[in-house]
Amino acid sequence: MTKPSHFAPAGFPRFAFLATVGVLFAAGCTHNRAPDAALAEKIISEPNGGKHALELLKEGNARFLAGNAESPATDPETIRIAAVDGQKPFVSVLTCADSRVPVERVFDRGFGEIFVVRVAGNVTAQHETGSIEFSLAALKAPLLVVMGHNKCGAVQAAIAGKPVTPNIDSFLASIQPAVQRVRAAQPNLSPSEFEKAVTQENVRQTLRELYATSPLIREKVASGAVEVAIAEIDIETGAVTWLDNVPKP
Ligand SMILES: [Zn+2]
Repeated sequence: MTKPSHFAPAGFPRFAFLATVGVLFAAGCTHNRAPDAALAEKIISEPNGGKHALELLKEGNARFLAGNAESPATDPETIRIAAVDGQKPFVSVLTCADSRVPVERVFDRGFGEIFVVRVAGNVTAQHETGSIEFSLAALKAPLLVVMGHNKCGAVQAAIAGKPVTPNIDSFLASIQPAVQRVRAAQPNLSPSEFEKAVTQENVRQTLRELYATSPLIREKVASGAVEVAIAEIDIETGAVTWLDNVPKP
């Protein structure tokens, strides 16, 4: 299971590397987990790190769907190394708080690999945008993903348009423009088609909102330092569909 090319990478602290090897041998472990932490660090420094990161997510989701999840970077030693050396996530994901969207599980990744911001309806406001800015600027994640999902209660509530509580209404209000835009542009959709269209428009709207409210995110994406992808996950299967018409900054 060992991949020699990932061994003793530049920048991976020698003491941690040796300690990890010792633990793995001592435990008789057949998986070499430590290189996963090194892999994330390597991706961050690659010229096309964002594209590589996206491939890892696609591969991980394929493993998850096939029942072949490897659960990389979840062994105690890798967890400890990530805590000691600091997190180096190779992707920042903004998605819904829905309990049926377990991000690391569906992408088959582990500790220290995915910086996740979750809020009902995968909308963004100052706290979410600031969190993403931190992941792209301070942690240097080379990929930003905004992901919605089917059967989203927040999207359904925004479509229903009834007040709930002031706090819940605050994120429903963020989804409302997507509802109105789809209603105006595609007035003849069936209810299920309409909900799907709003879900996808809401993902694109959130990305546009990130650009509109964050010069940092806008510049990172415009310069090519950060790759962007948008997606929708099917909560009945865990399958992630990557969407086209990705908004540009
Ligand atoms: Zn949701």
